[in-house]
Amino acid sequence: MGGESVRAVTPQQIQGIGMTSQRTRNRLLLRLRERGITDEKVLKTMASVPRHLFVDEALASRSYEDTALPIGNGQTLSQPYVVARMTELLLAAGSPQRVLEVGTGSGYQTAILSHLVEEVFSVERIEPLLAQARLRFKALGYCNIHLAHADGGWGWLEEAPFDAIMVTAAAETVPDALLEQLRPQGRLVLPVGKQGREQVLMLLSKDAKGVHRQALESVRFVPLLEGFI
Ligand code: SAH
Repeated sequence: MGGESVRAVTPQQIQGIGMTSQRTRNRLLLRLRERGITDEKVLKTMASVPRHLFVDEALASRSYEDTALPIGNGQTLSQPYVVARMTELLLAAGSPQRVLEVGTGSGYQTAILSHLVEEVFSVERIEPLLAQARLRFKALGYCNIHLAHADGGWGWLEEAPFDAIMVTAAAETVPDALLEQLRPQGRLVLPVGKQGREQVLMLLSKDAKGVHRQALESVRFVPLLEGFI
């Protein structure tokens, strides 16, 4: 990408038209409220981040439906409800400053987090997805997002500790490295379970007495895989 210029996105493109318009987005907000999302900051952010710019143009008209969408390389962008729920859980104990996300994918969840916390560190194992996300952040003017091409199951040691960690791919067990890189009082939100089987959204929190685990609801995610490509 060296030196390549990125054309900024116009306000018109961000606002969207037709199925990507503010009216369509407001309908999504209603749906998120109905499903139990109550954090107003999260709802406001979900309404303002242009999800249609994080998927292929052919899918733009479906981008404010409450469904997961393909993002290429066999990966998916989670449904808005799940993005909102995980974000709400991560923020529920205060305002984390440094947040690690494992699984950048399209960059949509990263963008949501970047509005709500000070610094986002996001790790992706598939290089073409990371490169595309990087271009989107640049075009949209995000400057508190730091990216790494690596196996995020090992966290991001050089940048640790983190106030909060979110994993957007399902781990069979909670990776030890992530718990180690979590600051005391920190929160870790991740789906746990095998692919194709029932997976559960877990919230882990760390305090002086140790690690508390809470199983919250069933979810479906692509698997957390080892190595990077
Ligand atoms: N948060 C993303 C979700 C993408 S799907 C979004 O908003 O679009 C999950 C992503 O996790 C995929 O891009 C997948 O390549 C990535 N992933 C899976 N295992 C990983 C690992 N060990 N390290 C980093 N990323 C991983």
